[in-house]
Amino acid sequence: MSKMGTKCVQGGYTPKNGEPRQIPIIQSTTFKYDTSEDMGKLFDLEADGYFYTRLANPTSDYVAKKICEMEGGTAAMLTSSGMAASFLAVFNICSCGDHFVSSSAIYGGTYNLFAVTLKRMGIDVTFVSPTASEEEINSAFRPNTKLLFGETIANPALDVLDIEKFAHVAHKNGVPLIIDNTFPTPVNCRPFLWGADIVTHATTKYMDGHGSAVGGAIVDSGKFDWTKYPDKYPGLCTPDESYHGITYTERFGIEGAYITKAVAQLMRDLGVAPAPMNSFLLNLGLESLHVRIKKHCENALAVAKFLEANENVAWVKYPGLDSSPDKPLVDKYLKDGTCGVVSFGIVGGREAASKFMKSLKVIAIETHVADARSCCLHPATATHRQLSDKELEECGVSPDLIRVSVGLEDAEDLIADIDAALKNI
Ligand code: PLP
Repeated sequence: MSKMGTKCVQGGYTPKNGEPRQIPIIQSTTFKYDTSEDMGKLFDLEADGYFYTRLANPTSDYVAKKICEMEGGTAAMLTSSGMAASFLAVFNICSCGDHFVSSSAIYGGTYNLFAVTLKRMGIDVTFVSPTASEEEINSAFRPNTKLLFGETIANPALDVLDIEKFAHVAHKNGVPLIIDNTFPTPVNCRPFLWGADIVTHATTKYMDGHGSAVGGAIVDSGKFDWTKYPDKYPGLCTPDESYHGITYTERFGIEGAYITKAVAQLMRDLGVAPAPMNSFLLNLGLESLHVRIKKHCENALAVAKFLEANENVAWVKYPGLDSSPDKPLVDKYLKDGTCGVVSFGIVGGREAASKFMKSLKVIAIETHVADARSCCLHPATATHRQLSDKELEECGVSPDLIRVSVGLEDAEDLIADIDAALKNI
């Protein structure tokens, strides 16, 4: 299967003769065995199979396999949320006393996870601007730096990351590049083609696409050779005494070590597993992702162009606009489209933003993006309210910024709604 649309529809699950056409929902916490020895082989990771849904479940595995195929990876797992995916992706190779480098233009929740919660766990982060030069990114590295992190299209700043530049610096320093690819999805960008080593997703967004199920995914490209740096990645390259003395790289190779460790160790201990029903819902979303994301992008471009020409709008940021400063990066990494999210600054600042949002009839106020239904948010008073002005600036969020997640309604209706609300400020 080579084309993305076919992967979206049929990837991950091929029924045999007489089996269900749709992926089965295995809504069971546990699995039955005839002998203890049979089950023991599963615990030792010597046989494939399932024993407890906190670690693995067939429904979730079908969907992880589909996302893995879409990203072009070698192994993948689902998590109960996008935050869980970001946390596990980092914590799988960072321990107390370690350090990592991240683009500062990332989702506010991820920023907080990195700057506050991981710091409390003894894991230090240095943020760099997504537009920093290779030298500047390089200078943030320390001897104990374990990874570099960024978002393909930052939420809500909408900056496009120069993935190749970040991958180059990461690899020069002997660490993997982890990319949160939530906004473009693999339909519009496949970071592994540009040197990223691990990709994360908030599947809650376009992949689910209907505001139905919170979820996350982690995919490994299988390209980063942990065994070249055994002292830096002891968790992958030396025996895991908490898991029968397995050395993940020896048993599963560089293609499978990272995800196997994340499942066997972190999922076991932290329990951030998705519900099988949520994995099923996610799969329904994935089946139409390639069709939906195109329409999200078309509608977002129409809305962005309308906003650009409106006198009550101070500025518009949409990576798909010809006027976007990120156009060269879009032409390189996002040829098929960017995302459905548009940010703009309203003339009159915070007060006008509040009036504008109250007047909308079709577009709802929500802490969400990437839904079939259009929604909008004022991050400075909502998702990002815990950040200081300086931190807001670092994330690319100004106090007048309104984020509109353009849905799948008719663009004419959305533009009429925005037009009427702008006349009302
Ligand atoms: N990454 C990005 C880019 C996001 O936009 C979000 C949520 O908005 C997350 C991660 C976190 O995902 P979740 O809300 O599913 O935990």
